[in-house]
Amino acid sequence: MDRFDLGTVKVHRIEEWRGTFSPPADLFAGFTQEGWDPHAEEFAPEYFDPASGKLYAFLQSWVLDTGTQRILFDTGAGNDKDRPNLPIFGNLQTDFLGNLARAGFQPEDIDIVVCSHIHVDHVGWNTRLVEGKWEPTFRNARYILPLADRDYWDPRDASTGPAGIGEAVNAGMFEDSVRPIIEAGRAEWAEQGYEVADGLVLHACPGHTPGSMMLEVSGGEETALFVGDVVHHPAQIYRPEWNSVFCEAPEQARDTRRKVLDLAAAREALLVPAHFGGSHVARVLRDGTGFRPVLGAARLRR
Ligand SMILES: [Zn+2]
Repeated sequence: MDRFDLGTVKVHRIEEWRGTFSPPADLFAGFTQEGWDPHAEEFAPEYFDPASGKLYAFLQSWVLDTGTQRILFDTGAGNDKDRPNLPIFGNLQTDFLGNLARAGFQPEDIDIVVCSHIHVDHVGWNTRLVEGKWEPTFRNARYILPLADRDYWDPRDASTGPAGIGEAVNAGMFEDSVRPIIEAGRAEWAEQGYEVADGLVLHACPGHTPGSMMLEVSGGEETALFVGDVVHHPAQIYRPEWNSVFCEAPEQARDTRRKVLDLAAAREALLVPAHFGGSHVARVLRDGTGFRPVLGAARLRR
């Protein structure tokens, strides 16, 4: 769904990129063929491309228009960024700002930017290259970012920080996409319970990164959970124990994923992840001791 309403909040999906990403065995830590096979058919062709054997991934942001404020949730990978260890998202030249304009918004219309977490594919459009310098793309916006992620990802804080694949794929990210926001005096640092606007609250979802947050939007009868990367792919609704290989704290990430799926099922909430293909949102049903996804826009309407 590219447009839906949550009470008085109008939600717009803004796509940056779509494509095949990797075989499921390469994305999911803990992948098993027996766990995948029963669902492979259900995921083709919108979430899995049988021809290449790869998962489909999307980079997409969401504008939440409350009528008085326009909030941009997550900012993709950005253009012109040098990503030596993640070439698929390096030096992109996408028409993200054109897609934003077609949804009715210029960069200066955005009042608040929220990044679900500090990762290379969630902070990219925070900045754009102007005459060789990284400038805030949304020049009238406050940028709300997770405090725990600043302390973890800032390379000047040598006492903490990622190692391995997290460090490799995010190389350069903080300096080109977060530091310029701090230096422009536009960064605000959020913790559990931060209220972005009336009815829009951030909740700590640690594990994928230490500071990962989801945005709960309660509007009218409907609740939506903008969960960032707590869930990458609908396979993880069947298999909450499968992390992505990009999850920094595996045990915590699994625990958070189960709690969020449980909440989504209990509240009959709309789950709005960062990278889902298909209708881009899902509902979650309890199934025995686990869960199953409800996919497909028509079935999502209550
Ligand atoms: Zn991501």
